[in-house]
Amino acid sequence: MADDETVLYELLDEGTIARITLNRPETRNAQNRIMLVALDAAFLRAEEDDQVRVVILAGAGPTFSSGHDFMWDWRPENNDHPTYRGNGGTRLKMESLMLQEWHYYFQNTLRWRNLRKITVAQVQGGVYSAALMLMWACDLVVAAEGTRFADMVGNRFGVCGVEYFAHPWELGPRKTKELMLTGDSIDADEAYELGMVNKVFPAHELEARTLELARRIAKVPTMAALLVKEAVNQTVDIQGFHNSLHACFTLHELNHAYWRGVTEADDPCGTPEFGLPAWDAFPPILPAVRDLAEAPPPSKRA
Ligand code: ZN
Repeated sequence: MADDETVLYELLDEGTIARITLNRPETRNAQNRIMLVALDAAFLRAEEDDQVRVVILAGAGPTFSSGHDFMWDWRPENNDHPTYRGNGGTRLKMESLMLQEWHYYFQNTLRWRNLRKITVAQVQGGVYSAALMLMWACDLVVAAEGTRFADMVGNRFGVCGVEYFAHPWELGPRKTKELMLTGDSIDADEAYELGMVNKVFPAHELEARTLELARRIAKVPTMAALLVKEAVNQTVDIQGFHNSLHACFTLHELNHAYWRGVTEADDPCGTPEFGLPAWDAFPPILPAVRDLAEAPPPSKRA
């Protein structure tokens, strides 16, 4: 697949709305390096275009995104992507990993969060682990009914969350601990109640209703819209959001360094010898039910 096909870019409504679509539905929009670089270019294209007022971030197919595509990134034949030849890619071991994750997982997400446009994440199906970062970087989130949200990097990889650790700000401290320690999921209605999601739409109306919302926002004078965004973002930054993201990125890298130190294969994530499931035997993602005695109905299993 050509680089520019992993992410689609469309202009709608006389160019006032840009829609960026993750376009690897065959992998549930797993984010590989090619896609992340194309996504950054798409966001910067919308940023540069003074006609664009609102940016919608969507995912093609049944699932918004299943997270990072380790299977692609860690395959040796893919390491010839030019982005591995700089930004720390040629340094040794943990220095390389830390710098690469800084540029391609952390700072890019922060850059998208600080875009001078209003951004709307339009999500459906599953929003798992690193997909949460993309979604949370947006100003508003609208979800299709039945969408499930989970971060499984703790119970599957033995890592303390993703590189852009906004979880406590989005889910609250206690829910974050539960979801990170269990890998369980919440659905769109629960996310709505937590304030993590702005709107929940029927799945078949998701695209049209998101566009409707984007059109309303596009009518707000650009200066006022930006200052609303900044008033909120600067408030949470003053409360510690920006610094906590940096602190948690450092903890994330410490966690990678730990596994590199203790695993035989110098692996940045935990392995079955430490009690984690094998990559081909991951347990199902269960709903975070109120009472453990409640058996999750099959329809709620992701
Ligand atoms: Zn990482």
